[in-house]
Amino acid sequence: MAIAYISFGSNIGDRVEYIDTALGIIRAHPFVQQMQVSSYYETEPVGNVDQPKFINGVVKISTTYSCEDLLAFLLRVECMLGREKTVHWGPRNIDLDILLYDDACISQPNLQVPHPEMHNRAFVLIPLNEIAPEVKHPISGKTIRELVENISEETTRGVVIQ
Ligand code: ADP
Ligand code: MG
Repeated sequence: MAIAYISFGSNIGDRVEYIDTALGIIRAHPFVQQMQVSSYYETEPVGNVDQPKFINGVVKISTTYSCEDLLAFLLRVECMLGREKTVHWGPRNIDLDILLYDDACISQPNLQVPHPEMHNRAFVLIPLNEIAPEVKHPISGKTIRELVENISEETTRGVVIQ
């Protein structure tokens, strides 16, 4: 059994509905045993800022899936919710990214774990810190709490909506 942390984000349509549906599919899946969900945060878009606000959060699961199979499953869930290929960092009705999978360090063309941007993103670190403050980033060795403390003051932190 592995512990994985997955970030979720949505900024098109009924964002809470998309996220609730995605989490419902994940929770119901036989390869997923336990689940813990962070608060939902409304956040300003990063990178391409000319788009609607996001709702972001993080879910912890325990799973018997390998990391590769977990990615394939999450891409299927995105597909089931009708996610279309859009511009990089552009609007999306659902985005599910693997942040951490135990202490795995994977660097393949289609799968990088830990997620290469996670330590730079307030919209990932802040919800992750709610449910995993003592977990260590397997490359830097820093805890999530330490990474959150290092987020620059200018970075917008988002607002808890539920
Ligand atoms: P992004 O999440 O960077 O905005 P996409 O969701 O469109 O972009 O990217 C999808 C691709 O990213 C997937 O097809 C997958 O192969 C690749 N990818 C690489 N590492 C990961 C990861 N840790 N979690 C999710 N997708 C990943
Ligand atoms: Mg993604």
